[in-house]
Amino acid sequence: MKWKEEGYPARLEERLPDDVVRCHLSPRNCKIRPGQHGFCMVRANRDGRLVSLNYGRSVHATEETIETEAVFHYEPGARILSMGNIGCMLNCDYCHNWKTSQARYVADKDVFYYTPEQVVDIARRHQIDVISWTYNDPVVWHEFVVETAKLAQEAGIVNLYKSAFFISPEAIEELIPVIDIFSISIKSIDPKYYRKITKGWLEPVLDGTEQVYRAGKHVEVSTLMVTDLSDNEKTAADVASFVLDRLGPEVPTHYVRFHPDYKMTDTIRTPIDRLEAARQVGLDMGLRHVYLGNVYDTESVNTRCYSCGQLQVTRYGLNARILGVTMAGLCTQCGADANIKRIPKGVRRPAVVQDLPADVKFDTATFDWYGDVRALHVQVRNDSAQEQQVYYRRNLSDTRSSEWSVLDLQPNESYRFIAAKSEAEEAGVAVAVPPNCTSSLHQVFDRAHFPTTEADSGSLNADVTPLPLFVPQR
Ligand code: SF4
Repeated sequence: MKWKEEGYPARLEERLPDDVVRCHLSPRNCKIRPGQHGFCMVRANRDGRLVSLNYGRSVHATEETIETEAVFHYEPGARILSMGNIGCMLNCDYCHNWKTSQARYVADKDVFYYTPEQVVDIARRHQIDVISWTYNDPVVWHEFVVETAKLAQEAGIVNLYKSAFFISPEAIEELIPVIDIFSISIKSIDPKYYRKITKGWLEPVLDGTEQVYRAGKHVEVSTLMVTDLSDNEKTAADVASFVLDRLGPEVPTHYVRFHPDYKMTDTIRTPIDRLEAARQVGLDMGLRHVYLGNVYDTESVNTRCYSCGQLQVTRYGLNARILGVTMAGLCTQCGADANIKRIPKGVRRPAVVQDLPADVKFDTATFDWYGDVRALHVQVRNDSAQEQQVYYRRNLSDTRSSEWSVLDLQPNESYRFIAAKSEAEEAGVAVAVPPNCTSSLHQVFDRAHFPTTEADSGSLNADVTPLPLFVPQR
């Protein structure tokens, strides 16, 4: 594992006798002897000092939308740059990112190297106003997150932290100055569930969530409703009680659809009717904004004014359209606080053209949505020494297409974005690449799964991930 060879000085280190160190990043407080590593496998004792082994080691940076992160009340539809790393301080039986959260499965070929400056540069060049620290879990990437988020903040970029939040209060204090949005995944409110399924424990997660809420940060809470395990009304009620008692009724709460993964593949995706019942429990108890996650065709992903009922934001999957919220985050009909924070520039999008340049011979890759596959990772690469333009569009029906969005790629740049079905009638997406560029389409459920498997392995069983690549182009 080449990616683990170099260590970076770690924060939150306590030095103990005999060159032993203790890590105070997560509540485990691992005591680590020379040459050993902690539970997360990415913090180690090298010569009596605590080091981070994954500083700048990442999965491919990916452009998505903010809805992907169970954040519905911060500039709906905002484009985000998602950054995920390696390792985790938990080990959930159903992990949706297990190929990177469990460091032993990570192969060198799937690891990308970034500096803080490069991450900020990617976001700026592609006019993305939010960096999301996400996937496996940003907690175990603490040094890289804190340093890069500070640079991003100085560049006027918003930082979003999507985490299971099994983290120490000291580490949270280091995040508060640089993180704007916390999207916190609370797996359950049952201590036994935490011990058994996540191998962590509950109290620090709840305390940490309250800590960032009290610090005035934008907080949204989500709970994965695991089929026959936690997709019941009691879980929904317990989560709602926590939000109401220790946070506030305005905190958006998401009940998220599970898909079989990792050690839990002998089950099915969460039935939608159980999610709808959970949502109703939250609403009946007094939460103002309760949503379903990882679902497409339901009214339960839209935002309505809690006061007058005005439709404020419509969503389809990972795409959103603002209809009734002012730039100050108020309802356009009654003026009530929608608890939606806006980015002054709004959502910036790439330039578009009606037609492809006639003088370039493009290769075009297309993909049609089918079944539950309604999201796609599109990876494009410029293999030349000149800047190149790659184009993509949505095929809205057999006869109707969107304009082509233009992606400027620097020499040798690789860029990845997620295209999710944006309306019921949409047929699929098309990517047009010029000579010296390549593209590949990786079909996924719902959101990100890294790394996706090779084209000729995996299965098309609609309820099991990971899914295979769709025909790589050239
Ligand atoms: S981050 Fe947590 S799991 Fe990793 S070494 Fe530190 S205390 Fe242990």
